[in-house]
Amino acid sequence: MATITAVDSFVDDGDDYYDLTPEEEALLCELDDLTEEEEALLCALDTTIPHLSKSTPPLTKTPFVETSSPAPFQHNGNAGGAIPRQKAASRPLSPPATLDANDDILYPDLTRALSALPTATPPPPEPTTEATDADPTLRKSPLVRFRTFPRKPFAVTDFTSGGAWCELQYYYTLTRLPGGKKTKTAAMKGGTKVHKKLEKEVHTMVRVHVDTKADMFALKLWNVIQGLRTLRDTGLTREMEVWGMVDGHLVTGVIDGLSYSCPDVKFEEEVLSASQEAREESGAKGERKKRTIYLSDVKTRGSQNPPTGAASLRPTKIQLFLYHRLLSEMAEGTLDFFRVLRRLDIDPDETFSDDFITEMASLHDEVFYEADPNASQESPTDSESAPDLVKYGTIRELLWLVKEELGLTFPEGRRSLGQLVSVDYRWREDGSVIGTNTFPVDDEALELQLKSDMQWWRGEREPRGVDIEDSFKCGYCEFAGDCEWRERMDEERLRKAREKVAAGGGGHY
Ligand code: SF4
Repeated sequence: MATITAVDSFVDDGDDYYDLTPEEEALLCELDDLTEEEEALLCALDTTIPHLSKSTPPLTKTPFVETSSPAPFQHNGNAGGAIPRQKAASRPLSPPATLDANDDILYPDLTRALSALPTATPPPPEPTTEATDADPTLRKSPLVRFRTFPRKPFAVTDFTSGGAWCELQYYYTLTRLPGGKKTKTAAMKGGTKVHKKLEKEVHTMVRVHVDTKADMFALKLWNVIQGLRTLRDTGLTREMEVWGMVDGHLVTGVIDGLSYSCPDVKFEEEVLSASQEAREESGAKGERKKRTIYLSDVKTRGSQNPPTGAASLRPTKIQLFLYHRLLSEMAEGTLDFFRVLRRLDIDPDETFSDDFITEMASLHDEVFYEADPNASQESPTDSESAPDLVKYGTIRELLWLVKEELGLTFPEGRRSLGQLVSVDYRWREDGSVIGTNTFPVDDEALELQLKSDMQWWRGEREPRGVDIEDSFKCGYCEFAGDCEWRERMDEERLRKAREKVAAGGGGHY
């Protein structure tokens, strides 16, 4: 089956509102040999499973719900439907054609009030060395310093590399390394290649120009749409972007795999039989055609042995549990995309750039353009006199399609998602699977972890290093030679050993 789907995007405009995922960085590596002009291109997910686009059901446009909190943009509320492609950039903003006038939300014009506020100045560059006691930034919480607008929002890795592995190591990474990012190792690059290879088995990359943040976010939404279609059509999709909230803060992530295949049927039966709610759900679903969706992650290894031990598995578990939670909210329709857009400072009514619309429509003409309903069948058919109409010219309009696709993919809302998640370990050399671990989703464990993590992010406590039984982690840590926590841990061990010797207990120290 011809599946044309490509993900990934970036805007090389110096805007740091949205950081690149490892996959996007890998793409950039691949682009190394391109010209400067080519580097300004993005990759978009294209799907076109040919028969699928034809069978895409007509949209029944149910309005998305916006929160009542003030929006930093104004919807002009003009009536009207699609617009001629030639005038895409200058057309009036409009809700979808079938939207009821009562659903059209008007916001007060805050232009004057906002213009009276002091102009926002760009934040100072983050220090590349750890702040000292004299540094006033020390008094700010990590949340304010690193994850508050205009800084990028949280990523799922903030919680997995942080609290679930070593919080202090993550703090050092944020404060000591350039850009607050881990030093990219050869192993990481090798892992990215395996991920890319897997993705290409499902999607085909197509580069698309983006000029604005609205274009870029639209591309991400488009890739979600194509990912959902690919899942429904083939039973598997990869690299699905998700958004959600933790403690009121935006979190983004990319799920490695979604499929209809249960990773361990027997284990699932055991898990379901242990839960009354799940048992009832299972019974109810027996009468319906059940298409449960399972999340999976891919981890690459330099050796052919999968990791063992709770400490090694914990970050992966937390990562999958958090993906599960974010996707559940999207599946249930409770994610407020307009809140996401406000955090990213993106106007949902900003018209996509002409180049973007043209390129996306060239991939999916039937989706982005519709026939002019006023055009006479007898009138000339050349493009000058019978222009195509742009169906989705803004994010607000595209969100109708996102909601539609989510509804089709998750007909039972969050209950369409399985309660098992899994991780495949693959050998970095050739990408072959060397082991799989499956876990039941544990929302309580996730909640506890996030609660603890957020205490540190909000500055309510100092970052913690590893527990003494997890000190093996220090062996992989680039800050081990200069880590106060580790020093204290060594001193503590020495002190205990001396006490033992003094007490005549001997020991092996
Ligand atoms: S040396 Fe150990 S305790 Fe210190 S930051 Fe690294 S992993 Fe954490």
